[in-house]
Amino acid sequence: MEGTVFDISEGSIHDGPGMRITVFLKGCPLRCNWCHSPEGQHPETEMLVPSGVPPYPCGKVWQAEKLADYLKKRLRFLENGGVTFSGGEPLMQSKFLLEVLQFLIGYHTIADTCGFVSSEEFAAVAQKVSMIFFGLKLLDDESSVRWTGRPCSPVLQNLLRLDRETATPYRLRIPLLAGITAETDYLKKLERLCAQLQRAEGIDFLPSNPEAGAKYAACGRVFAPEYDPSATPVLPTWFSPGIPCRLLSPGEIS
Ligand code: SF4
Repeated sequence: MEGTVFDISEGSIHDGPGMRITVFLKGCPLRCNWCHSPEGQHPETEMLVPSGVPPYPCGKVWQAEKLADYLKKRLRFLENGGVTFSGGEPLMQSKFLLEVLQFLIGYHTIADTCGFVSSEEFAAVAQKVSMIFFGLKLLDDESSVRWTGRPCSPVLQNLLRLDRETATPYRLRIPLLAGITAETDYLKKLERLCAQLQRAEGIDFLPSNPEAGAKYAACGRVFAPEYDPSATPVLPTWFSPGIPCRLLSPGEIS
């Protein structure tokens, strides 16, 4: 079957163990106020019109088997490498992703997901990949709708089921943003959630990306952050979720 990919990045050392190829699948159900990949949100190929550069199509349709063959050829050159599927939201094309994964059995694969998908789709992908990067955002429906456009209840259900009903290793990945997640209320709630998790291998906090707005104009949109993208929050010393945490540097975000 066919799927739409908007970028393939080779040689990443920040998207999982080893040297990796990251495949960015098009389409995302969320509209995070801080999103730095607006070109990944729309599910279909679209023209980008960057200033000073000729317009170009963003999104290429691939056959699942051809994409897997391409990745396998490239993986030959990457020692201990693997493939990370990101986006957008890779599980928005879960049937396509499952077919690609079927051709990649034996390779290390990661799905970097926001978790806002049906429990059936989530479970099917979680059983096929080597690891999940779970991109957790808000922790209550009201603030989740406010900042991402969607409630977080389905996300939290998928997280708890991933933890309790599968053996797939996973890490949480959480944006650390002034006025949103870098706040006492949020971090206390996160501690309570983490107390319910048995298997999370770690929490990667993603710093605010000062380049977040760079691509909006090319998509014909306006970046309108309702937080301070230039703020660089740190984790308070009292924060103790019982899971190893690290705050990534801007260079470690793909
Ligand atoms: S989940 Fe990721 S790709 Fe989707 S809108 Fe949020 S930040 Fe952007």
